[in-house]
Amino acid sequence: MERKESKNFKQLPARNQIVKELTSQVKEDLKNYFQDRDYGVIAVTREDALRAFVVKTTNLCEIARLRHKLSPMATAVLGRALTGAILLTSLLKHGTDQRVLLRIEGDGPIGLVVAEANAKGEVRGFVQNPDVPLFVKEENGRKKFDIAKAVGKGTLTVVKDLGFGTPYESSVPIVSGEIAQDIAYYLLKSEQIPSAVAIGVLVGENGKVEAAGGFLAQPLPDASEDAVSKLEENVKSLPPVSSLIKEGKRPEDIAELIFKGFTTELLALKELSFRCRCSKEVAERGLVAMPVEELHRLKEEGGVSIKCNFCGEEYFFTPEEIEKVIKEKESGDN
Ligand SMILES: [Zn+2]
Repeated sequence: MERKESKNFKQLPARNQIVKELTSQVKEDLKNYFQDRDYGVIAVTREDALRAFVVKTTNLCEIARLRHKLSPMATAVLGRALTGAILLTSLLKHGTDQRVLLRIEGDGPIGLVVAEANAKGEVRGFVQNPDVPLFVKEENGRKKFDIAKAVGKGTLTVVKDLGFGTPYESSVPIVSGEIAQDIAYYLLKSEQIPSAVAIGVLVGENGKVEAAGGFLAQPLPDASEDAVSKLEENVKSLPPVSSLIKEGKRPEDIAELIFKGFTTELLALKELSFRCRCSKEVAERGLVAMPVEELHRLKEEGGVSIKCNFCGEEYFFTPEEIEKVIKEKESGDN
């Protein structure tokens, strides 16, 4: 099928609040435009004040798995955190350089979990223990990954960098460890935004990510009580979001399920990708921070590789490059 760079979507900047009804033609255009790529839709209801951000993140979770050589358990946890960070970009201004960082510090065996997303749809992240073993629990007769066991108890912190001054940081205790519920708890406690959050990452037998995605649905301040209870009902009756994506449902289809009984309209679209902004220049700051004696040692050892935590990329520094850093440090110290 021919890929159409549909003109329709260019008319959808969130700022202008231009909405587009989700007709079958629009759905067809979306399918042709995004195909298998990851993306999210911001949808609203015509009849009432409900909003949802629904995302498919299968590819970016798989890229994270490959980059960090994650075990199946670590894939499920980081995949959820990456998807969660993307959902939290709802707190940012669409399309800007604003960023949100999600930090989960639990006492479980996976250790620290960090994911950072920006308003442009780029996300990156890591877990402290990429080899964490598999924990399985049974729920309604079905075996499921026990995310809460890997994460443990502790705190969930959200850092919003809105591009001016000190980033805004707020923490809540981990209430479930399943990540989606914890994000909903954070939104309620720290942002006073009641919301329904669902995230799912389906990891196959071979360890590969088969389907991943999530949504954040919320009543806007002037929503009617009736609409709020309808939304709650719809969300409760939904199958797991990873199952929906596995069976071929797209973000816009899931938005329609969330808004069953309403007319779903599109407010904005966002392409999503795993992307790190690291570079050799950024890695060099790690060298500059080291004591001069340590740099001499690394130089004599024939160079050093500095690894970016966020994406696993390694930057090699030759003895000559280390010497340059030593010289700069020594001149800077005087
Ligand atoms: Zn990086």
